[in-house]
Amino acid sequence: LARHLDGLGTTIFAEMSALARTTGAINLGQGFPDTDGPAEVIEAAVAAMRDGANQYPPGDGIPDLRLAVAEHRQRFHRQTFDPDGEVLITTGATEAIAAALLALLEPGDEVIALEPFYDSYAACIAMAGARRVGVTLRPPHFRPDLDELRAAVTDRTRVIMLNTPHNPTGTVLTRAELEAIAAVAIEHDLIVVTDEVYEHLVYTGEHIPISTLPGMRERTVTISSAGKTFSFTGWKVGWVCAPRELIAAVRTTKQFLTYTSGAPFQPAIAHALRLPDTYFDGLREDLRHKRDLLGGGLRAAGLTVYEPQGTYFTTTDITPLGYADGLDFCRKLPELRGVVAIPEVVFFDNVEVGRPLVRFAFCKRVEVLEEAAKRLAG
Ligand code: PMP
Ligand code: GLN
Repeated sequence: LARHLDGLGTTIFAEMSALARTTGAINLGQGFPDTDGPAEVIEAAVAAMRDGANQYPPGDGIPDLRLAVAEHRQRFHRQTFDPDGEVLITTGATEAIAAALLALLEPGDEVIALEPFYDSYAACIAMAGARRVGVTLRPPHFRPDLDELRAAVTDRTRVIMLNTPHNPTGTVLTRAELEAIAAVAIEHDLIVVTDEVYEHLVYTGEHIPISTLPGMRERTVTISSAGKTFSFTGWKVGWVCAPRELIAAVRTTKQFLTYTSGAPFQPAIAHALRLPDTYFDGLREDLRHKRDLLGGGLRAAGLTVYEPQGTYFTTTDITPLGYADGLDFCRKLPELRGVVAIPEVVFFDNVEVGRPLVRFAFCKRVEVLEEAAKRLAG
């Protein structure tokens, strides 16, 4: 392995999902739902396959999906993107993140990212030969320290990488926080790459895309995907919305990563994006209920629980159970309690803050969460 990729090894999600399979433990590690998304969306994919959507679609994505993404932005955020040139379909948000960072960064550039960071950010920044500079979200509230953010800017800073709602802490950035971040980006002429895959999963507060703030549309690459919004994480359909020049840059790298993305899934996700508001509201309320259910179980088991404002995940501190190291705890938990979770320390450079934090996913059936709670209570 090339030296600049040192430490990337195996993702924690692969390690912990494998542990769940070999031990038969309940997998509250990797964030994927254990029920499928809407049947009509599956039918739309099957119909597309039967109708011959089985060869390479256009590299930018099929026109109707680009149109559906633009309509969805308009419906939920009152924001206009031209489906021809300001929307790019990708193979999940994962590819969008890689394509954006590889397109925008030069070796030696610096990326300021909220940490804990989703693991692919660190990997893609490393692949680009750039350097990550973390701004640590600390318990109990996991808010960004805006002075720390301002102090992190150097003359090599090129990109601010955001994620709101934030995996793993569940932080949803407020308008005031986003305004402060936007002011830094504008002052230093930085590009913001923002990962908003949990945009519809907000239980407290409101999701505000930073691209809707004054002066930000022209310098923001917004990334989202269908996985979490429609419970089809295995379909890997994502997208980028950005001004034309930034889309052109991201397209350049995307062409050589995958060239194009899953043909029959594209018309199906176009259909999904046009589901009525009741669908999006229902998903959120279902997950809010599950957040509360799991949170109760985790508290009853003696963990310190940091209630998330959004996402699929609850962050806990294991210290009250007499453990100090989340990685060690998560490797033992399947044996001890028959449950798999994710140690957050792997998402931190500031390992002191991350060490006792463990993430549990609540995007599971109620009976699974109840069983997990029972096992955790011992
Ligand atoms: N970003 C974040 C914050 C995530 O949690 C995930 C996992 N869904 C991704 C990106 C990857 O999304 P996708 O499955 O669409 O590639
Ligand atoms: N985004 C999901 C999570 O955070 C899945 C990650 C993955 O498998 N790479 O759990």
